[in-house]
Amino acid sequence: MENEQLITITSPLDGSVLGNVNAMSKSDIDEVIQKSKKVFDSWRAIPLNERCEILYKAANLLVTRVDELTDLLVKEVGKDKKSAKSEVIRTADFIRFTIETAKNIHGESINGDSFAGYYSNKFALVEREPIGVVLAISPFNYPINLAASKIAPALVAGNTVVFKPATMGSLCGVRLAEIFVEAGVPSDAIQVVTGKGSEIGDYLITHKGINFINFTGSTEVGQSIAKKVQMVPLLMELGGKDAAIVLPDANLEITAKNIVSGAFSYSGQRCTAVKRVLVLEEVADQLVEKILDQMKKLTVGNPLYGEADIVPLINKKAADFVCDLMEDAKEKGATLRYGGEREGNLIYPTLFDHVTLDMRVAWEEPFGPVLPIIRVKTVDEAIDIANKSEYGLQSSVFTENINNAFNVARKLEVGMVQVNNKTERGPDHFPFMGVKNSGIGVQGIRYSIEAMTRIKGIVVNLYD
Ligand code: NAP
Repeated sequence: MENEQLITITSPLDGSVLGNVNAMSKSDIDEVIQKSKKVFDSWRAIPLNERCEILYKAANLLVTRVDELTDLLVKEVGKDKKSAKSEVIRTADFIRFTIETAKNIHGESINGDSFAGYYSNKFALVEREPIGVVLAISPFNYPINLAASKIAPALVAGNTVVFKPATMGSLCGVRLAEIFVEAGVPSDAIQVVTGKGSEIGDYLITHKGINFINFTGSTEVGQSIAKKVQMVPLLMELGGKDAAIVLPDANLEITAKNIVSGAFSYSGQRCTAVKRVLVLEEVADQLVEKILDQMKKLTVGNPLYGEADIVPLINKKAADFVCDLMEDAKEKGATLRYGGEREGNLIYPTLFDHVTLDMRVAWEEPFGPVLPIIRVKTVDEAIDIANKSEYGLQSSVFTENINNAFNVARKLEVGMVQVNNKTERGPDHFPFMGVKNSGIGVQGIRYSIEAMTRIKGIVVNLYD
């Protein structure tokens, strides 16, 4: 490595130093991408079943290392232990399912004579081939899972990967890449680029050696990438403002439980967290009381010292941003029903009722434990407010009436609607996508493999 500059990674939980990563220079990045390109032909030439064997080993290694990785996740991104452990196990399951799926993706042959004027002497063989060097950029909140959900489908399809983890989460990212290498992936086929996105991001994304960008992160950064990149396909999972729409005939007990776990787990630092509730006035009082009952059960604290649902946010900037949203809501007359306190970067679970549309918290993604309740008079008003968002990741609709559920679901401008469940990603073989400012393209195991491969057609013309 030419550049010896280091970035110190500290824990958001107690400020302790966890390690260092390189702040890579442009020439380091050139070297990484060159190596990635060079190994591409030999990696794609390895038979699929052998690539799958290697990835199976990576899945098994993840399980073997679950305690070590859980510990690192807790310390590096402040995740509670239970969620950290389930992130690692889910990732191993993800890789295994990716392998099974890849083995069952087959090409097709298409006869020419089904089109007018053509004859059966012409047919096309349609296959999928890898795209080349995939740049995978992941966010801080699931440093193992969201990274592997790009890396595994890319590798199984025969691509090579240049992986840029979020700086907060880069120690997890480096460890994950090491596991793939230990399992047998050539070290040039999965390389990690470390350094601050604000410093090296533009150079990376516009590098001529990159053939595909698979990005998960904020809408702000996603939009900046989309503006700068030319003729390189993009897959993007961005921010959200997922609404839980509650109809009068909903089972309010189940609804409240879902809303609270959807809004507050990992302190709301999830793209699919429930980020607003749109409830019909006639059941709003009852729902709010039930939500409060559930919120009182949330545990708050530092996951280093025990299980906690609400943990400190990733950094001071994130906590300041959430506090600004809370101040704005208070100033404009929202009713603070619960929480509102802050200790360092720990924000207590907070519920605002009577939130109105002039308040920032009605529209902006807090990425923190703050939930606004917006009361509406009609179902159409709920749909209208849901759809006015710049985002379109997911929505929930809570109702006991299947007709109402479908009628609302079909009108919502989002990637996916959950009926009687919190908004959430998974199971991982389901498609996962956002519309509007929430993303481009579709993830989900089969969809990710398809996105990171391209169709190649070979047309056969037979002589008489
Ligand atoms: P972020 O600040 O946008 O960072 C995401 C990644 O982009 C990091 O690796 C970051 O590196 C890198 N980056 C920053 N600036 C860049 C640039 N100019 N060019 C290229 N890369 C750059 O997001 P985050 O705070 O880590 O994650 C939270 C956001 O991600 C939320 O908005 C959340 O909704 C979204 N998210 C969406 C999904 C989804 O599936 N839709 C899933 C998870 C998270 P550095 O860390 O070095 O800055």
